[in-house]
Amino acid sequence: MQVSLSNFTKSFDGTPVIEDLNLTVRSGEMMALLGPSGCGKSTTLFAVCGIHRINKGKILFGDKDVSTLPSQKRNVGVVFQNYALYPHMSVFDNIAFPLSVRRMNKADIKREVEAIAGLAHIDNLLERKPGQLSGGQQQRVALARAIVRRPNVLLLDEPLANLDAKLRLEMRSEIRRIQLETGITAILVTHDQVEAMSMCDRVAIMDKGKILQLDRPTALYEAPVNRFVAGFLGNPP
Ligand code: ADP
Ligand code: MG
Repeated sequence: MQVSLSNFTKSFDGTPVIEDLNLTVRSGEMMALLGPSGCGKSTTLFAVCGIHRINKGKILFGDKDVSTLPSQKRNVGVVFQNYALYPHMSVFDNIAFPLSVRRMNKADIKREVEAIAGLAHIDNLLERKPGQLSGGQQQRVALARAIVRRPNVLLLDEPLANLDAKLRLEMRSEIRRIQLETGITAILVTHDQVEAMSMCDRVAIMDKGKILQLDRPTALYEAPVNRFVAGFLGNPP
């Protein structure tokens, strides 16, 4: 589903962090919000998610204005760096949780969980507890839980930050594969240029609450709009 922000403005204690930001994420696309720490990436993501109340502007899912809807009514999937699995529940129950709280019947839940677990290559782990999984496997479970409801948009906030370098590489391509196979619109927040450029259809480069440039990775490398963008991106890997 297409996700747009128009004139999105967010202040904390009267100080604007983001002012009049406009952004459209196309249906089925994976877009990165890329920029240095503190530039407002997570604040933007939280607005789409519905965690933050926005001060001004609109958030649209397709044609629908969701600006005042609470998070639970937006059907968004989230994977945040510190968004942990439920340690006392099996992998199956972790993935099933977003469905069981909505009272889906057991047979439907089983079918949906098994389908998503197959997609994420964790179908052999459903009986385990999170503590019995590797970091990469836990990440796959978190991703499966985030997409089991077929969300309008998948929101990823520095999802790979806690993984070691080798696993980070593997999960980059796995997240992208799963996003492409499901066709779920996704927004990836990261301060890692290689991650953004290698995983996403388009990248929005942010600094100080503004989008400086938004384009395909190759176009950004070929024609950065200013020194900040050029310097921030460095050379293609
Ligand atoms: P990023 O995700 O790009 O690192 P954030 O969106 O988290 O940046 O933060 C953008 C700015 O907003 C920062 O200056 C941060 O200190 C400020 N900020 C974020 N959340 C809050 C909050 N809950 N209260 C006050 N200031 C905040
Ligand atoms: Mg952040």
